[in-house]
Amino acid sequence: MRKKFFIVTAALLMIGSYAADNFDMAGILSYASGIVRIGVSPELLVGVDKAPDDTDAEETEAASGIVNSSEDGWELLLVNRQHPIPENYEVKLTQLQNDQAVDERIYPALQEMFDDARAEGILPTISSSYRTAEKQQELMDEKIAEYQASGYDYETAKQLAEEWVAIPGTSEHQMGLSVDITTADWNQQDASVVWDWMMRNSYKYGFIQRYPENKTDITGIINEPWHYRYVGREAAQEIYEQGICLEEYLESK
Ligand SMILES: [Zn+2]
Repeated sequence: MRKKFFIVTAALLMIGSYAADNFDMAGILSYASGIVRIGVSPELLVGVDKAPDDTDAEETEAASGIVNSSEDGWELLLVNRQHPIPENYEVKLTQLQNDQAVDERIYPALQEMFDDARAEGILPTISSSYRTAEKQQELMDEKIAEYQASGYDYETAKQLAEEWVAIPGTSEHQMGLSVDITTADWNQQDASVVWDWMMRNSYKYGFIQRYPENKTDITGIINEPWHYRYVGREAAQEIYEQGICLEEYLESK
């Protein structure tokens, strides 16, 4: 098994303007040194192939209830403020080395995309991926506290926070189908270079930029060049070619 240990350098500063909604750098910061939690070595930080199944092949399952996302069309499940995640939604996770995890069904495409990006000199890494409802609530509470600290009363602070953080139960991150992508090394490559590559190529792997700049009125989410959602190759290509967002795509079906 090929193992690479990679220390993330300190250049993980997220400037305020990027500190929006789902974005969370904690994942990167907590990356220590190639811990393999399950029988794969999906090292999305530096790109390592799947390891033989001889390692501690234990599967991580979502703690919160039973996920029943095995029906057809799981890739196209719409989750937004109006469409919360179905109760008892279950996710089977593939644990990634940099303390990230995704729905096991999207892992192969994600790895392929990262491998191809790296082959072209792009340095992507995942800053946030699967989140529990508790984690999402934590992010919300932090954001509310931030606004309160700047002098807003609780109700106003909550309203403002909800413009940035998805209300728990309505975040795609809780499905394990979305990842926030940034640069693995700010000294070498700006995140915008990574996002530019993703914007042009992600559809080939079944991923879409979920919250484009020109669709904020429909998605209800600010422009998030880092947030990618897996929808499957067919849908991704159509969405990309037509320049529409997921809500519009589903409406047209
Ligand atoms: Zn996100």
